[in-house]
Amino acid sequence: MNIRLSLTALLFAFLVVPPIVAQDLGPHFRKIKDGIYIQTSRPVSESTERQATSNGGIIVTSEGIVLVDSGQTAIDSREIAEAAKKLSPLPVRFIINTETHQDHSYGHWLFSPPAVVINTEGAGKEMRESFNPNRAAEQSRQSPQMAEALKDFRLVPPQLEFGDKLTLHVGERTLELLNLGTTHSLANAAVWLPNERVLFAASVAVENQINTIRPHTNIPDMLAMMKMMKALNPEVVIPGHGAPTTTKMFDFYSGYLETLVDRVGKLMRDGKSLDQIKQELRMPEYENFIGYKERIANNIEAAHRAIQGGYRP
Ligand SMILES: [Zn+2]
Repeated sequence: MNIRLSLTALLFAFLVVPPIVAQDLGPHFRKIKDGIYIQTSRPVSESTERQATSNGGIIVTSEGIVLVDSGQTAIDSREIAEAAKKLSPLPVRFIINTETHQDHSYGHWLFSPPAVVINTEGAGKEMRESFNPNRAAEQSRQSPQMAEALKDFRLVPPQLEFGDKLTLHVGERTLELLNLGTTHSLANAAVWLPNERVLFAASVAVENQINTIRPHTNIPDMLAMMKMMKALNPEVVIPGHGAPTTTKMFDFYSGYLETLVDRVGKLMRDGKSLDQIKQELRMPEYENFIGYKERIANNIEAAHRAIQGGYRP
């Protein structure tokens, strides 16, 4: 009798307060841990971009929601806003921006104010300076859906910028924000949840693909940041782009960069010019990864720059 009663009570509780599963948030969302969800990046096949779209994080706390980035496009940003509303009646309190590029940061206006946007020092300056005022109008021409999603768009640079590290205490959660320097865009932040052992690793590393290394980015700094993040010993690693993974992403990308620097260095010692190195360098282990063909020349330049700057692996 007692068992039947409690079973009935349990069933009733489920009917009245259905548990939120990621499925209820739509096909683009995935549960990482209790109260931690991501809008998953779509693979290249589903994306108009050459690269997988960006991940957005939703972290639910007893004192409101924290977002990690705000969506690849305005359509994604509005999906994140809908999902956040389903997950909690409380507002989005903070948006931690992992980089300045538009595919991580142009959705901020939907949430801020009241949300406070956070990135590292220099992020706001970079976002203002690189802002293309015609972009929203150009994107709106893609589809009526995109035009609707972009209604009232405006650029919202971070209101809060930090130096080396910033710790956020929101409700029961602790979030450690780590400055990744200029290792991808001109300002990049990782988000480490030490209790949940979840790391949002920004875009310094990607897995099973090859990324562009911009002139302001140094390979030695990239390797140092990957080493630092791996040492945190996270259980789940969520990259800026690509499927949730583990520290094996850092092993893949560090391995690639170390091999690249090693081979470029060898050709430099043989007296080869940069152009000759671009012609002669072979990376058979990596040639079939997404982005390799388009980006290897750019990556060779970065390796060459690092070695000329005195870097010895
Ligand atoms: Zn980027």
